[in-house]
Amino acid sequence: MSNRVFNFNPGPSTLPLEVLKKVQAELLDFQNTGMSVMEISHRSPEYDKVHNDAIALVKELMGLDDSYKVLFVGGGASTQFAYIPMNFLSKGKVGAYVDTGTWSTKAIKEADNLGQFQLAGSSKDKGYTFIPKADEIDYPEDAAYLHITTNNTIKGTQYHFVPDTGKVPLIADMSSDILSHQIDFSKFSMLYAGAQKNLGPSGVTLIVMKDKMLDKVNDGIPTMVDYRTHATKNSLFNTPPTLPIYIVKLVLEWIKEQGGPAAVEDTNRKKKDLLYNLLDENSDYFRAPVREDSRSWMNVVFRLPSEELEKKLVTEGKAAGFIGLKGHRSVGGIRVSLYNAMTLEGAEKVTGFLKDFKNNN
Ligand SMILES: *Cc1c(COP(=O)(O)O)cnc(C)c1O
Repeated sequence: MSNRVFNFNPGPSTLPLEVLKKVQAELLDFQNTGMSVMEISHRSPEYDKVHNDAIALVKELMGLDDSYKVLFVGGGASTQFAYIPMNFLSKGKVGAYVDTGTWSTKAIKEADNLGQFQLAGSSKDKGYTFIPKADEIDYPEDAAYLHITTNNTIKGTQYHFVPDTGKVPLIADMSSDILSHQIDFSKFSMLYAGAQKNLGPSGVTLIVMKDKMLDKVNDGIPTMVDYRTHATKNSLFNTPPTLPIYIVKLVLEWIKEQGGPAAVEDTNRKKKDLLYNLLDENSDYFRAPVREDSRSWMNVVFRLPSEELEKKLVTEGKAAGFIGLKGHRSVGGIRVSLYNAMTLEGAEKVTGFLKDFKNNN
């Protein structure tokens, strides 16, 4: 596999090599069906096992009991921005949101269009370079829910605490840090994630929902929008994205083989320490804009002394086999994405590359 690069793309992003090899090995003849997994019926026993194994693995890795439903739907995380207010907001009900930029801002826009929204906290005035502290988050006691985005993929910020919301259901977009560290998932009434960062390929969105949330769903919304449709039919009301779900299952198995979220967290801590230590030790050259308590373990964002140097770094990085180092077009700079499937070796190598670049430029 000598032509595999170190892929730091923000999403879709690198997948574990072991998973890709398994997909390759099983591709033409899945479980002796003489067909690939994408050619078999979503109602066949072979696919059924994939589907249910994936659901069981989500619950196992998250430490959740049967009071939670695991759903797989299409449409990406972005679709959920609208589905959440459509399902849970009605006259007199307010959706509370913390605005930590980009994705949370998009989620707020949908809630504002479709129902009543209230800002529960924001880091907008400082360019979204931090996550508001727990005591800076404020919302009505009768809010339909509090919505947070646990990791801002673009700004490089991440929650390192779970807001204690008491009776108010906590809903989280976990697209870019799901299962990357240990967290008490039972504190969330609903969480969702597009698969293409930490869980698999694009095309499927994972939703985990407390049963009790389903009792609160509005009547009269379109069938496919209604979470009860997918919950009562085990995400088989219509054809689910079978190939992405199959690959998600393989990635979940891979996480389990690593030793689960605790072991993955351990590796991810080493990876982000390599990068942030380099930035801190060379702060005359690298500028890391994010407040220290809010630094993302998944997306390490920084600037060089000039935009020319940033361009040069991206180009030289690519030539050296480090792909995807360019910051998001909305913020510029450099971004090193360190999702679960990025190896410690990859983090070590890119750190060495950055160090050399600094010394030569
Ligand atoms: C990438 C991303 C999204 C968008 O996901 P899609 O599946 O492309 O809709 C939403 N939220 C966060 C935090 C993301 O990182």
